[in-house]
Amino acid sequence: MADRPEAATIAGRLGLKAEVVADIRQVFAEINADADPVERGKRTLLLTANRGAWLRQCPGTRYYTCCNYQILHVGTFCTMDCAYCILQAYFHPPVLQYFLNREEMVLELDRRLAQPEIARIGTGEFTDSLIWEPCTDLNPWLVERFAAQRHCILELKTKTVAVDRLLALDHRRKTIMAWSLNTPRIIATDERRTASLDARLAAAARCVAAGFPVAFHFDPMVIYDGCQEEYRRTIQRLFEKIPADQIVWISLGTFRFMPDLKEMVEARFPRSTIVYGEFVRGLDDKMRYFKPLRISLYRDVVDWIRRYAPAVCLYFCMESEEVWERVFGFSPSAKGGLPAMLDTAAKFHCDLAPEVRWQVQSTEATGC
Ligand code: SF4
Repeated sequence: MADRPEAATIAGRLGLKAEVVADIRQVFAEINADADPVERGKRTLLLTANRGAWLRQCPGTRYYTCCNYQILHVGTFCTMDCAYCILQAYFHPPVLQYFLNREEMVLELDRRLAQPEIARIGTGEFTDSLIWEPCTDLNPWLVERFAAQRHCILELKTKTVAVDRLLALDHRRKTIMAWSLNTPRIIATDERRTASLDARLAAAARCVAAGFPVAFHFDPMVIYDGCQEEYRRTIQRLFEKIPADQIVWISLGTFRFMPDLKEMVEARFPRSTIVYGEFVRGLDDKMRYFKPLRISLYRDVVDWIRRYAPAVCLYFCMESEEVWERVFGFSPSAKGGLPAMLDTAAKFHCDLAPEVRWQVQSTEATGC
């Protein structure tokens, strides 16, 4: 990959001197030898090839309701540093990677975009979608590629404000610009190097002004003394800046983690208290807040959001049918399943082709 012109371009844009490594294990060994391999992995950019699938199913579990999202695997890891980030423990070792063999991505993506069924595809699961803005042309390319078809939507999910280059693109509403949101307190204590809440909302407002549909993810919501009031004010700030009718969906999920992450958070984030709460082990082995606590916070948050946005598509990421029933009064299966609900919302907001196939038609405005 060293001979690819993009390698030199990326290094130049970052002001770095590229170094060719003969054996990738050399990079991994250096990262693992560091006192903080996670931080070292965030400061090491490996420009390499993706030798696996570019499009992957989001790794949900059979125990919780999954949305059938597809991940476009453009790179791994992140320059920001969230205490709860599952990627710290997901990759061994964690290292910032960007894949240069785009021609293979194009072939796989084109094959999927040629199919008539809706797909919701995102790049923000194994990395943050917009950290690549300063050094690659990936996102403008993706926005324009998705604009050239009417079956699928692209979701760019971020905690940055790196939207400048995207605003003038002819996106045709096929790209949803999405932000993860949290209370200012959690952003300050547990989301290092991310943009502030107000900065994220200002960037989202600029995207709305440029005609993009937007989405928000309250995930992970953290339970702490006074959290209800702080989430209420966060929601108020969201709707002061963003018109409800431009929001495709809002997801909700309370903090959950594999037990191994606790030790890492304690070592790397001494000020963080997120791993100390009333957790129980879930069916997927992850630690989750005791169910009545989750339901109580969800009910409040849903109620506040509904006051501003009665018709917006609201959904849970990885929750049980029982929690859906007790918070929303229905389970996704009653509406054709969560994938169908989200497909309907995408169809409503993103000007998809009228003949596009999805699993069920809802009679409600946004289908959620
Ligand atoms: S912004 Fe997302 S990917 Fe980056 S560290 Fe935070 S949780 Fe992980």
